[in-house]
Amino acid sequence: MRALVTGGAGFIGSHLSDALLAQGDEVLILDNLSTGSIDNISHLKGRPGFEYFVDTVNNEPLLAELIDRSDVVFHLAAAVGVKLIVEQPVHTIETNVHGTEVVLKHANKKKKLVVIASTSEVYGKSDDVPFREDSDLVLGPTPKHRWAYACSKAIDEFLALAYWKERKLPVIIVRFFNTVGPRQTGQYGMVIPNFVRQSLAGEPITVFGDGKQTRSFTHVADVVGALLKLVREPKAIGQVINIGNTQEVSILQLAERVRELSGSQSTIKFIPYDEAYESGFEDMPRRVPDLKRVKGLIGYETDNTLDDILVQVIDYFRKK
Ligand code: UDP
Repeated sequence: MRALVTGGAGFIGSHLSDALLAQGDEVLILDNLSTGSIDNISHLKGRPGFEYFVDTVNNEPLLAELIDRSDVVFHLAAAVGVKLIVEQPVHTIETNVHGTEVVLKHANKKKKLVVIASTSEVYGKSDDVPFREDSDLVLGPTPKHRWAYACSKAIDEFLALAYWKERKLPVIIVRFFNTVGPRQTGQYGMVIPNFVRQSLAGEPITVFGDGKQTRSFTHVADVVGALLKLVREPKAIGQVINIGNTQEVSILQLAERVRELSGSQSTIKFIPYDEAYESGFEDMPRRVPDLKRVKGLIGYETDNTLDDILVQVIDYFRKK
């Protein structure tokens, strides 16, 4: 099989590309290196069956050619990270909506299977945990830019489902829940790389809000394993599928655990959301996936605990 991975030089995309090549598939990466990094894929250069193109999905002639050459498209190119989204809302909306639009349009010409990467962010501030794929989405008002991200991804989902329903384009929509692991950068606000970097530098660990909000973090290897199985499962086509972990941790506990595992003397500093992001910023108190669907489809189980994740990320930052 040959796969096109848009955003393949990014955090999840590069791990997916590694796994595809390891199982004997060929990989084409299309990435404009806006948030991805060539460092994530430099070890793949020269590998048989691997090619990469530094360009955007808006280069439609190139995109069309790469889709023609592929059996499956993993569309991971997107603007991600709450900090980036709040700071660059125009870029976020345009990238996420237009990018998916052109990928679906060209995939449809040859009816190539497309996996659309969506996010648990679409559940918004719903408190109806665990979140099921058919749960209501509860978003905040439009002047709060955080919600533009959820909305842009929800539009991607609507469009992909519309292509499936109306034009029989095979699509699979995956909603990722706080995917973490080595290669994730803290530059766009993600909590684990930030806490690890701060701990190793002996700087204060910045907990936003009161730290009582919880998340359930998923190792990127578990996510990638699920993606590889889902594209081989015909029953996944036309579905929206949560991929995550149900083990919850509060952000304050997370800060303490990172500090402990990295043997750091850092203090913990609480920062109000208004200061961390923007005035009136809304965070979600809990975010837990319901995983019945993905378990039913592919027997999904997570192999990595939060400690496994933290140990690996600490090791990655130490080596950097
Ligand atoms: N967070 C934090 N300190 C940081 C970065 C993030 O306390 O330096 C918090 C953030 O407010 C949120 C949680 O950690 O409650 C997870 O943030 P992240 O951006 O990683 O993912 P999100 O779940 O918000 O998409």
